[in-house]
Amino acid sequence: SFRALVVDKQSDAFDVGIRELRMEDLPEGDVTIRVAYSSINYKDGMAATPGGRVVRAYPIVPGIDLAGTVVASSNARWREGDEIIATGYELGTARFGGYSEYARVPGDWLVARPPGLTLREAMIAGTAGFTAALSMQRLEANGLKNAAGPVLVLGATGGVGSHAVAMLARAGYEVTASTGKASEHDYLRGLGARHIIGREALMPPEGDRKPLRSEQWAAAIDPVGGASLPYVLSTVRYGGSVALSGLTGGGEFPATVYPFILRGVNLLGIDSVSCPAHLRALLWSRIGGEWKPERLEDMVAGEVALDELPEALPAILKGGVRGRTIVKVS
Ligand code: NAP
Repeated sequence: SFRALVVDKQSDAFDVGIRELRMEDLPEGDVTIRVAYSSINYKDGMAATPGGRVVRAYPIVPGIDLAGTVVASSNARWREGDEIIATGYELGTARFGGYSEYARVPGDWLVARPPGLTLREAMIAGTAGFTAALSMQRLEANGLKNAAGPVLVLGATGGVGSHAVAMLARAGYEVTASTGKASEHDYLRGLGARHIIGREALMPPEGDRKPLRSEQWAAAIDPVGGASLPYVLSTVRYGGSVALSGLTGGGEFPATVYPFILRGVNLLGIDSVSCPAHLRALLWSRIGGEWKPERLEDMVAGEVALDELPEALPAILKGGVRGRTIVKVS
C-alpha cells in the first residue's frame, strides 16, 4: 500500500486526509508512475474545499500536477525509468491526481521531462508556469514582439503571475507587474519586473466606464479577470492582445466592443487543461530552455509533505501566497 491525500464528500460530510491506498484503487490507465513532486495550484485549493466546484466525482485525490518516474507501462511511448511530467486533463478533478505516492494515467497525457529541468523544477513551474508559457506563446502567435513596449502582468506575485514576469523578462520583454502586495516589490524586481503598479491602479473609479483610455501596454497576461479586465482592455495599445487565464478577481466583467473594433485589441482565452499534446511538448521545452526563469528557486514559497497538505491547501484561496508551493511526495 501507499499514501495519498483523499478528499471525500458524502451528503453533508466533507473530509480531507491522508489515506492508505492499494494499486487496485488507482484508476485504469496504461502508465503507472512513482510520483516525486507535485504542487499547489489555485484549483487544488478549490478541490479541497466543500464549495469548490472543480471535482467531478468523490472520493478524489487532488493534485493537477505531477512529476515522477514510470514504474510500469503498456504504452509504446513510455518505458520503466522514464521521467515524466503530467498536468491538467482530468488529473485531480475527475481522476486521481498528484497528491499520491503512485499515480496511473493515460500515456498520451504525459510529457517527457525536458533536459533543462529537474523533476522538482518542473513542479516549481507546474500548471502555473505552463499557463504563463501558453499565454506568452499565444501573445507571440498574435504578433507580440520584443521592443513592442511594456507587457502588463496581473496578479504578479501569484503562481501564473510570477512565472509570467520571470519568463517575459528572460525573453527580453519590458515587464510591468501589477500586485496587491505592497511588501513584495523587491521580489518582483528580482524576478525581472521593470515597473510595478498597485492592483488598485487597474481598477477604474466607481462609475467610470470609459471604453478607451490612453494606450499603455503592448500586451497583458491576466490570471485575475473580474473588474480590472475592462480597464486593461481600455489601455492596451493598438493591435495588442490580452491573454486571459484566470478569475481570482472575479468570474464576470462588464465590457464594451470599442477596444476590439476601434483598436483591434484581441482577447485570447488561455486553457492549460485541454491544451493539445504537441503544444505541451513544445512549451515544456521552452520552460526548460529559452524561457527558463533565471531564479526559479526564488519563486518557491515553501515545500510541503503530503501530510502537511490539509493545512497548506486553503492558503492559496486567500490570495496571500507568493510564488509557488511545491509538494514533495516521495
Ligand atoms: P495564485 O498563486 O493564488 O495567484 C493569484 C494571484 O492573484 C494572487 O497571488 C494575487 O496576486 C492576485 N489576487 C488574489 N486575489 C485577488 C483579488 N481579489 N483581486 C485581484 N487579484 C487578486 O493562483 P494561480 O495558481 O496563479 O492561479 C491564478 C488564476 O489563474 C486562478 O483563477 C486559476 O484558477 C487560474 N488558472 C487558470 C489556468 C487555465 O488553464 N486557464 C491555469 C492556471 C491557473 P497579487 O497579490 O500579486 O495581486
